[in-house]
Amino acid sequence: MAKRWIAGVDLGGTATKIAFMTMDGKIIDKWEIATDNSNEGKNITANIGNSIAEKLKAFGQTKEQLAGIGMGAPGPVHYETGIMLNTVNLGWENNFPLKDSLEAATSLPALIENDANCAALGEMWKGAGDGAKDLVCVTLGTGVGGGVIANGNIVQGINGAAGEIGHITVIPSGGAPCNCGKTGCLETVASATGIVRLAKEALSKPKSAGELAEKYTTNGSITAKDVFDCARNGDPLANQVLNEVAFHLGFTLANIANTLNPEKIVLSGGVSKAGGILLNAVKQQFERFTFSSVRDSTELALATLGNDAGVIGAAWLIKNKFER
Ligand SMILES: [Zn+2]
Repeated sequence: MAKRWIAGVDLGGTATKIAFMTMDGKIIDKWEIATDNSNEGKNITANIGNSIAEKLKAFGQTKEQLAGIGMGAPGPVHYETGIMLNTVNLGWENNFPLKDSLEAATSLPALIENDANCAALGEMWKGAGDGAKDLVCVTLGTGVGGGVIANGNIVQGINGAAGEIGHITVIPSGGAPCNCGKTGCLETVASATGIVRLAKEALSKPKSAGELAEKYTTNGSITAKDVFDCARNGDPLANQVLNEVAFHLGFTLANIANTLNPEKIVLSGGVSKAGGILLNAVKQQFERFTFSSVRDSTELALATLGNDAGVIGAAWLIKNKFER
């Protein structure tokens, strides 16, 4: 049994990452296939099954080599049944039986969890968590996802929607609309999209000048990375945007820490690649809004697994099941 592998899958709206891993969390091989969400998503699990079968063959292995398939999926998932409740980008109808569909396509046991939760599990197992059993992970990408791990287990909630840090309201009135249907969510100010929106707002004010303003004029657009790069160069307007983002993020994470007192809060996702300049700005606000016992014991850290966190966390689901 110990020599068996796990398949970890990170299902995305346009691409799906797959990895074969050992039971102790080493990646044997990883690759990516396109997510075919045409035809009401009918090909998605079949394509994953075929890709895994081909790869096993290339390794001279059969499916008996795999203990199971763990998958992270983009939306709330009912963990016990593996039903995806809301499937905006994948072409499926809501309440799609993803676990059953994947098991039928592969003849292997499957476990499904929300993708942000998988990223949190990945960081707990092999990343910045470094074995921490109480950990919160906030994924700052195109949107903002979150995962809360208490005593080694993901907090799922009654409807699989726990840990959705991105939809914590940070601007109670007059906030920008969010993909979830509300306004003023953390996602509207701390995602890559939200940061660009804040920057454009600042740039639209009369007499805006400096490096970021020049970039905007030259390129006709800006990215979240531009904002951090210019802030690092001392551009005042970019720093103003950075401080606004850090305020909302630090405030929200402090209140989560005041509630849960996790060992670590990990910042992951594309935006977290900004590194120290973001982490330090968030830390300042975090320290301002946490009370002393929490401030002294909950650590903010940057993720270390990058894009692999999802497949590693998905594989952990299977490992965890076999170790119980
Ligand atoms: Zn929202």
